Amino acid sequence: MKKSFKAALSFVLCLAMIGSFLSVGFAQETKITACGDDCEFYPTIIVPGNGQSSVCVTDDDGNFILDGDGNKIQAFPAYFQIGKIIGRVLFPALASLLLQRDIGLSDALADVIDDSFGINACDLNGQVVTNVVTEKFPYPYSECSDYEKTVINNNIPFNKYPTALPDDHIYYFEYNSMGNHIDIANELYDYIQMVRGQTGHDKVNLVPVSQGASVTSAMLEYRPEVADQLHKVIFVVPALKGSTLFGDVFTGRVSFLNTDYLYNGFLSDMRLMDESTARLIEILLRILPDEVISASLDKGVKHLMENTMIRSTSMWALVPPEDYPAAAEKYLSSPEMANIRAQTDRYYQAQLHLEDNIQKLLDSGVQVFDIAEYNYPLINIGERWNQMNADFILHLDSTSMGAYSANCGETLPDGYEQKNTHCADETHNHISPDRVVDASAGLLPDTTFYFEGQRHDLTQHNSIILKLAMRLIADDEITDVYSSPEFPQFLSGRNVQELLTLLDTAKALQAEGKSNASIDAAAADAQAVLNNNLATGDEVTACEKTLRECLVNAGATENEKAEKDAATLKNISAYLYENYGTNGFSEMPLLFIKSLIAKLLSVFTG
Ligand SMILES: [Zn+2]
Ligand SMILES: [Zn+2]
Repeated sequence: MKKSFKAALSFVLCLAMIGSFLSVGFAQETKITACGDDCEFYPTIIVPGNGQSSVCVTDDDGNFILDGDGNKIQAFPAYFQIGKIIGRVLFPALASLLLQRDIGLSDALADVIDDSFGINACDLNGQVVTNVVTEKFPYPYSECSDYEKTVINNNIPFNKYPTALPDDHIYYFEYNSMGNHIDIANELYDYIQMVRGQTGHDKVNLVPVSQGASVTSAMLEYRPEVADQLHKVIFVVPALKGSTLFGDVFTGRVSFLNTDYLYNGFLSDMRLMDESTARLIEILLRILPDEVISASLDKGVKHLMENTMIRSTSMWALVPPEDYPAAAEKYLSSPEMANIRAQTDRYYQAQLHLEDNIQKLLDSGVQVFDIAEYNYPLINIGERWNQMNADFILHLDSTSMGAYSANCGETLPDGYEQKNTHCADETHNHISPDRVVDASAGLLPDTTFYFEGQRHDLTQHNSIILKLAMRLIADDEITDVYSSPEFPQFLSGRNVQELLTLLDTAKALQAEGKSNASIDAAAADAQAVLNNNLATGDEVTACEKTLRECLVNAGATENEKAEKDAATLKNISAYLYENYGTNGFSEMPLLFIKSLIAKLLSVFTG
């Protein structure tokens, strides 16, 4: 053999070897724990939700870009460069204001959207090609740095809710929420192999949270052999059949593009700001003619969809199966989108096979649990936001795998009998005490827990959901919704964030000997409510109010900001809409504008 040929061959072999190391990605052989199969625990992998992984912006050389505080800048949901935005928008905004028509404002805003959200844009193969790096944690929580632990705790607060599961059995699978869905599903499969290698365990637990459930569902479809490697799957508010919100947006049913809604209730229906702020913004929108506002929003949505959203196969995985055919027809029928379409069609099949794939898990002896939330209408960005029960982000049919329910604020009809689609035990009552949900129609009636009035994006502040999840990953004592009186099928939504802060303040006073009898009593009540899983969200709020009053009286904390009177602003906005439709101020009589300004001022000075 010629020397040069040998050299070339060894070079190619070297490349191939390097390639195979890279494709493994994780060090499977490194044993982190030596527990093996005698261990009473199962390694548990969290598959987090949308935006719950650290995906950082880098420069062209791959160095992290840091903010003013020295923290890595996150790419999700967008990379807003304020200076650049002002530079692009300021002149067109001023010109449009002065001349009361669209002097490049809608184009400038579209550019800003392309620029800011474009950090997450994929190419026409659905691959991330921008300057972002997804940080990975290929080792258990016990081996994570303080920074990595903070990333994890910001999303799943292990620091506040202890679990009996040892730290070296907890893993957190990071992925780019906007990235390539098929690749991520395969990476999850590889990550499971890595965890098995590191721990010596044959089987692991999976905790797919929200969007993480779409990744899990894809893996079950593409890598069905994984069923033998799973002990338990605990879905937490899972996006198993997407979200009607995404179904609406991907089929062109965006609510606020209808100006009659935009100028009359959209912002206050959104429930993300108080009513007076919402109504004030609604009034201030009229500073520009409605044509300008509407052109800006139309272009903004078009650019966001066409340049970022429809190139992300992970975003497509959030479109419900019932909406997918129409959405794919609308956005993916051109030849240039064919590579993306081939991938999203594949996930559509996974959605259609969801029930079969879950059934295969059960048949393989995997325990499957689900935690769903209801009685919180969808955020009102899609047109069907108030037509079905939901948790603000996902509709209940998706998170519960098919439970039947009345709409938010309504109850099942008188004389309604549970469907028993999936429950064969006639002694079971699967209708919620508030008569809103029939859990027997969901795929897993005996292992699905429901939280009433719980908002999806505040799930991490529901102490009961956290306690339940921490129990389920630690041992097998809870096998269904009948195992423990502490965790019945139907529980209440709650947000304990504020109460925990107040309680810490009270405890600090007690430790310094500066407490008083009323603080002690309110703190004891608060602790009792926190310890009682069956307490309602309203009871938590009542305790919070009492404890706050006691602490305010002792000068230990501040009163909540009183809400401004929303009625006047609401009336003004309604009057404007009734008399001037969606017209801007420049299209109204001057005398009327003067009296309007006087009225607005009285709200803020009076
Ligand atoms: Zn172990
Ligand atoms: Zn049952």
